[in-house]
Amino acid sequence: MEGNTKRKIILWSIWILVIPASLLLVYNFFPPVVNDPWNLVGYTLFFVSMSLMPMNINGASTFLVQWVTVALFLKYGVFIEIVVSQLAMLIVLYRSRTQEAQSLRIPFNSLMFFGVSLIAGLTYMAIGGEINSLNLMHVVVFGLIFQVVSVLVNQIIFYLYDSINGNKGKFFSVDAIWDFVLMIVIFPYAIALYMFESYIGVVALLLLGIPFLTMTVVMKMYNNSEQINMDLKKAGVIGHQLADRLEASEIFDLFIVEVAKLFKVEYAYIIDYRDGFQQFMRIYENGQLESRNIPSVSYEKGTAGRVILTGESFIYNEKRDWENLATGNLPIDTESIMATPIARNNKTEGVLVLASKKKYAFAKHQLKILDILSTYFAVSIEKAGYMQKVIAKSERCGLTRLYNYRYLDESLEKHIQEIKEGKLEQLSLIMMDIDHFKSINDQYGHQSGNDILVQLADILREEIAAEGMVARYGGEEFVVLLRNYSKELAMLLAEKLRKRIETHEFLIETDLANERQQQIIHITMSIGVSSAPEDSDEGMSLIRNADRALYIGAKQAGRNKVAAYSK
Ligand code: GH3
Ligand code: MG
Ligand code: MG
Repeated sequence: MEGNTKRKIILWSIWILVIPASLLLVYNFFPPVVNDPWNLVGYTLFFVSMSLMPMNINGASTFLVQWVTVALFLKYGVFIEIVVSQLAMLIVLYRSRTQEAQSLRIPFNSLMFFGVSLIAGLTYMAIGGEINSLNLMHVVVFGLIFQVVSVLVNQIIFYLYDSINGNKGKFFSVDAIWDFVLMIVIFPYAIALYMFESYIGVVALLLLGIPFLTMTVVMKMYNNSEQINMDLKKAGVIGHQLADRLEASEIFDLFIVEVAKLFKVEYAYIIDYRDGFQQFMRIYENGQLESRNIPSVSYEKGTAGRVILTGESFIYNEKRDWENLATGNLPIDTESIMATPIARNNKTEGVLVLASKKKYAFAKHQLKILDILSTYFAVSIEKAGYMQKVIAKSERCGLTRLYNYRYLDESLEKHIQEIKEGKLEQLSLIMMDIDHFKSINDQYGHQSGNDILVQLADILREEIAAEGMVARYGGEEFVVLLRNYSKELAMLLAEKLRKRIETHEFLIETDLANERQQQIIHITMSIGVSSAPEDSDEGMSLIRNADRALYIGAKQAGRNKVAAYSK
């Protein structure tokens, strides 16, 4: 059986065995005395409205209902307090908007609240606390004891529960200290409410309740604007980070991870919209990037499809709002969704989808921030595209598309560095020069010479492939860099190249004759090889050595030859 289901069954079993019977017992031993049922109704209504009003403290919803439950206890005793606390618990759980195993949290919380109410209530009476007393000193002293016991028992139960589940936390955690502070703040309100209500009746609830609710609303508004400021600040930071990246894939990763963190979502997706289809480009689930493959879907499908169709952003607060659009690609426990277009030149090119397990997870202002962020993202991707083009251009030779001298030089330095650091064992360099190339130019024209260079580049690319790196060193000179190649191995490869070129039929179109005609010609190459670290451990001398081998060992020895450098 799955762990959760097992736990659920155990908890509910305990609940059924304990709660109804205990409630009956409590009712029998401590029957509530209700002389003024309408006041109790007033209290209950008041208390329900308190439970519906979470106060946002430190970014977490906090439900300040204890001041009412304490007053209720002081007035009506333990039974009423238990019943009302249970009611509060249900409302708070409902309001906290998680689907997450409600069926597990209800019995657990119910048992816990029951235990807290009962122990605190019994303690109060055992030490001589009186119900419905009008002696202020008595009420303050015993009420405070009741409160302290409540918070302590609550804390102990949580601590034990965590221990059973293997989470060893500190007993005096930040949360626990926070609970004590809240209790101290709320306690005078509880006493005031109780005393006031005892003397002047139900009007007291309004006199104390209205300022309390007003305070809650004001704090909520203040918190909202704080939240907007904070979100905007974080969005700015993400924007800067995106602008610093030069590679599209880095930008994708950074964007999805940071946005998911900013909006505290479990799921995030970047969807590309192209040729009438949606393709998932990045998948972020439960804190990490996934490489799962989601088959592409037609452009108008799903929540992302709605963004593509309208070009607008959306928030869905809960599953039933979007269920009819679902394509089945979002995790089953998804509730809220926020989706926004990724647009370039006012054209939607993709969609960002954020999804949360919570209902009502997103606020309107977050949609605006997301719009700004997706613009940052689109601009960064575009910029990265240009940058990559410029970089590619600056690294390559325009005629042959091989790497150019600049790239070769940098790459050689990097390799040499690796050798010096012991990360690379050996490196071989092959240098090639076409024999009598000048006479080919003279005979068939410069354009034909270029055609040969292009075809030769194709051959070299094909032959070397992933074995090494080919660069055009100069006019008709080429260099191959071979990682982890011994000189002997490099010589074999060079010989293979030489043979292949010697026999290859190069096709040119002569433009010297009056009419253009195709012609096959043959060329040969002279080749020099040198290796690091045996010949040298400097980049430039590696080239110089290969060049020397080429001229002395190959050209001077009659051309169309491979020669190795020797000291
Ligand atoms: P060898 O190397 O065998 O000594 O004789 P070579 O004729 O090849 O002499 P060298 O290497 O000194 O001359 C290089 C010639 O290659 C000069 C130039 O006409 C030609 N060349 C260099 N770059 C290009 C180019 O980009 N296109 C064309 N068509 N020819 C080029
Ligand atoms: Mg040359
Ligand atoms: Mg030459």
